[in-house]
Amino acid sequence: MALPEPLPWHEVPWRAFAAARAAGRPPHAVLLWGPPGLGKGLLARRMAAALLCEAPAEAGPCGACRACGLVAAGTHPDLVLAAPEEPGRPIPVDAVRELAARLALASHGGGWRVAILEPAERMNVAAANALLKTLEEPGPDTLLVLVSHLPGRLPPTVRSRCHRLRVPVPDAETARRWLAERLPEVAEDALAAALAAAHGAPLLAESLSREGRLAERAAVLEAWLQAARDPAAAGAVAADWDRAALERALGWLEGWSVDLARLAAGASADVLGSPDLAARLRTLLEGLDLSRLHRFHGRVRRARRLARESQAGVQPLWEDVMLAWAGGEEEA
Ligand SMILES: [Zn+2]
Repeated sequence: MALPEPLPWHEVPWRAFAAARAAGRPPHAVLLWGPPGLGKGLLARRMAAALLCEAPAEAGPCGACRACGLVAAGTHPDLVLAAPEEPGRPIPVDAVRELAARLALASHGGGWRVAILEPAERMNVAAANALLKTLEEPGPDTLLVLVSHLPGRLPPTVRSRCHRLRVPVPDAETARRWLAERLPEVAEDALAAALAAAHGAPLLAESLSREGRLAERAAVLEAWLQAARDPAAAGAVAADWDRAALERALGWLEGWSVDLARLAAGASADVLGSPDLAARLRTLLEGLDLSRLHRFHGRVRRARRLARESQAGVQPLWEDVMLAWAGGEEEA
């Protein structure tokens, strides 16, 4: 397994990291943050590889040595990864304790020890507390990388002890060119639709394209557009969803309700989160009750939170949201 190629939009945070290292003052803890779909986790692995590589160059890890191979495979003995056991669940507190313990031990190779926590916002209070001692008294030659697209959810005690590096969304042309290289068989307008659906994040656009998610997104939109007329059919769309599909659907719905409010205020399509859907969203404008839209937006946010943090069933949560839109009911 090889290390992934560096991504063009990682250049700014990478240079900040490399400069600190070259100056002999690498941070002990880094918070890589930015929207989902930018490859923040890949950047974290390149940082780990740069420190663990047996023949690092100025531009980064060599990508060819044994250490780089082990980092790419996630099996380097001096690299610890902590992540949820399945997407959407919390990072187990035991995984964070294990990570803290291993950062406190001497390295296998006599060099750096690196730990990556992703997504860091999935730490609960106990897990964050288990990490605090590591952050307060980092050992020599240790790097802890926290990866998060919701850094505001991290406890301030954790956030304030990290060197923050923002991973930016690339400009439209960089994103288009990268995606076209990855997906040469996909037509230009389909690439543009995928990038629009991904809010400009190229890796998210790639997975939307590869996994047929654009069709899924279209089905969710149609369900919402039709919910007022046929809430039962709109609810049935979720029949074979897993929790991840529900979270995607609710994420889209939250963005679209904001877009709808923008359209109602007279905004043009190019300022929307999903400009490709402007024409479809405009069909909801006639007779739109803004206070109802506002309540609905709150309802979707609550459902997202429940989907993330509770064991509530996937289909009941979705049906509840569709019924709320159909009935325009009052917020409880
Ligand atoms: Zn190497």
